[in-house]
Amino acid sequence: MADRISKDRRSWNMSRIRGKDTKIEVQARKYLFQKGFRYRKNVRKLPGCPDIVLPKYKSVIFVNGCYWHRHPFCHLATTPKNNAAFWQDKFEKNVQRDERNYKALQEMGWNVIVIWECEIRTDMEAIMQRVIRELEEQYIQKSLNRETSEI
Ligand SMILES: [Zn+2]
Repeated sequence: MADRISKDRRSWNMSRIRGKDTKIEVQARKYLFQKGFRYRKNVRKLPGCPDIVLPKYKSVIFVNGCYWHRHPFCHLATTPKNNAAFWQDKFEKNVQRDERNYKALQEMGWNVIVIWECEIRTDMEAIMQRVIRELEEQYIQKSLNRETSEI
């Protein structure tokens, strides 16, 4: 009966996908905080309301649930058997919305990092180390850009 969910109800459901602190988001933030990174969270002014925003590194991080955000080839990205077409359409819209947001952010000059739920669950250390390397690279890049624009 999912098709009969009212429009309001549906957008409410969708809004819950973003904007609420999930466990994996909190884990990723804690890790970064302990490593000395400072950030803002859920910045609504930015497209897609990124989970973690690091202005110093000109980077935003999305901590994506594999199910709602459709992690490709992931065992967590299942499709319900009932109303499969409805769900596929809904998921497809989620993916398209994500892609629009990432693109908009990139056009604003942000580096977009996506972390997946399953990566945090299986080896948080490995994925967060990769994120930190990327942040450091962005920081160097940002400083270089500043130097060249000052010449
Ligand atoms: Zn996954």
